[in-house]
Amino acid sequence: MSTSVIEQDYVPPTRPYSQNELKDMRLRTFRSFRVGKELVMHRVCGHTYFATIGGRKEQEVKTTGNSDAGNCSVCWKIRHMPTSDLGDRAYYIASVYADELPYMQERLEYRTVELERIFYAWLYEREPGRDQRRESVRPRW
Ligand SMILES: [Zn+2]
Repeated sequence: MSTSVIEQDYVPPTRPYSQNELKDMRLRTFRSFRVGKELVMHRVCGHTYFATIGGRKEQEVKTTGNSDAGNCSVCWKIRHMPTSDLGDRAYYIASVYADELPYMQERLEYRTVELERIFYAWLYEREPGRDQRRESVRPRW
């Protein structure tokens, strides 16, 4: 039985965190999962997320100037979750993140910074099997 990052429950902090600390935590998330600055907002489903640096979605948003470019990566990922229970959890986390993101520009909270980490870990985590296949066809430099 494989586990997914979205199965983790929220663990409240044991001490207060300053805005600077939360900013650092946020930066770590963005670096770990190569999260960029191009914001993607899909009108139909409401999902909102930053595209990965150098990815196809980032390119689509940049060239079209449309933040609603292409298909929703969140919807795609939810559809491809191994169980409907995991799909439901992912759907919930993605919805809360889309709601919270505008407020994160003003003030950070530990809970939302953690939620963001879980969200991008889930959205941009690599599946080992797929990576290995890709590795084998990639030319060596
Ligand atoms: Zn969506």
